[in-house]
Amino acid sequence: MTDVVVVGAGVAGLAAAAALRRAGAACDVLEAAGRIGGRAWTENPAALGGEAFDHGASWLHAAERNPLAEIARAHGDGLSQSPAERLRRVMLDGRAATAEELGEYERAWERFTEVATARADREPDTSLADAVAELRGDPWTATIETFESTLIAAAPPEQFSVRDWRLNQLSGTNLNVAGGLGALVARRLLPAAGAVRLRTPVSRIGWGPRGVSVTTPSGTLSARACVVTVSTGVLAAGGIAFAPALPAAQQAAIAGLPMGLLTKVALRPADGGALGLPARSSLYRRVAAAGDPSISFSVFPGGSGILVGFIGATAAWELSRAGAAATEAFARAELSALLGARAEFTGAVATGWGADELLRGAYAYALPGHDGARAAMDAPVGPLVFAGEAWCTDGLAGTVGGAFLSGERAAAMALRLLGGYGPSTAAPAGQSEGP
Ligand SMILES: Cc1cc2nc3c(=O)[nH]c(=O)nc-3n(C[C@H](O)[C@H](O)[C@H](O)COP(=O)(O)OP(=O)(O)OC[C@H]3O[C@@H](n4cnc5c(N)ncnc54)[C@H](O)[C@@H]3O)c2cc1C
Repeated sequence: MTDVVVVGAGVAGLAAAAALRRAGAACDVLEAAGRIGGRAWTENPAALGGEAFDHGASWLHAAERNPLAEIARAHGDGLSQSPAERLRRVMLDGRAATAEELGEYERAWERFTEVATARADREPDTSLADAVAELRGDPWTATIETFESTLIAAAPPEQFSVRDWRLNQLSGTNLNVAGGLGALVARRLLPAAGAVRLRTPVSRIGWGPRGVSVTTPSGTLSARACVVTVSTGVLAAGGIAFAPALPAAQQAAIAGLPMGLLTKVALRPADGGALGLPARSSLYRRVAAAGDPSISFSVFPGGSGILVGFIGATAAWELSRAGAAATEAFARAELSALLGARAEFTGAVATGWGADELLRGAYAYALPGHDGARAAMDAPVGPLVFAGEAWCTDGLAGTVGGAFLSGERAAAMALRLLGGYGPSTAAPAGQSEGP
């Protein structure tokens, strides 16, 4: 019998475990994968010449209110600011947009924000696509929708709540972390979280007034409370069986927050200089319709030597089903079309979040009419407390900052559940490599 079992060692699980341990509660952190970090994961693949590559999160968005930015600064970690107005290179019919066209694009973006924000204030909630229907005649609307919905929220605009869009606008500074954001999470969050049992998938959680019993391949743990941090994709797919089943309101909230997909393809040009692209710029084309399969490239982000292409929503799911080779081929073909020439690359890496059964997508977005779903886990369900990016109600949903805040709030709820009994003796911190 322990005080709290934490399921999942992504940012939310690590933040929850650290807060529980600081308060003196004993907790067991169970992680199904062979590594910690979940969707915050840095690798240095040989295909990219050993460059740090974040498969998942790479930016600390809204740095002014992002708890991870605070942690990184406190430790003196290398942070670099992405230019507020990132240098853009928007292609129209195979040529770069002129300064005048870029001016029209800026004004179109302002109108888009105005119209969508005004619609978000009116009842009932609707989709982002519907909210900006009056702007359909503007040649830039589909490109802006692609950014605001398909790429940033990983959601098809016709299925994305305009209120959820407005509530989670990521304004402020974006920071890149030297050596990768996943590496920062491992370096700074794991030591405070303490022991994590890797390769320990939870298959069932029995719950009731006396606490929980958590089933894993290496045995069943009993605890007085349980913090569950798996994605809404895992919850919706029944990746963990709850006995009894979760109440209808929480099941409806999970269904209202499906997983979007964002796929990254990193390419290492044989001769970066020959491409003639400025570092920290972005390269993409104006699209005719928001659903058009398209890709937006970050050029040499954080001063690196790689290009990182982003593909979102429907196109990303289709390519995920087609496999990594098809995804890489799509990225190369799009880049060649954008550059008007065939570029040579020494290596490529495509991410695979859609096919990963422990994640089942990139992050959750609210369907129209389900903008309140994120608040469904603001209170415990018996001894269960849910945490993770999807359940963040601080305006940072979908991000590592939101996952962190949600994890800390879940720990506070779990501590209240432990009530007047007082925590049992805290387990010593440390890391365990297996069940
Ligand atoms: C391509 C991509 C780009 C992104 N870019 C950014 C960005 O630039 N900035 C940003 O802030 N955010 C970004 N994000 C989002 C960010 O990565 C996530 O919001 C955040 O990492 C989620 O953390 P979490 O703890 O909620 O969930 P997770 O990281 O998913 O943690 C949940 C953990 O639970 C584990 N698990 C699953 N099932 C079980 C089980 N049955 N038993 C035990 N463990 C289980 C999983 O393996 C996982 O480790 C991006 C995500 C992706 C995919």
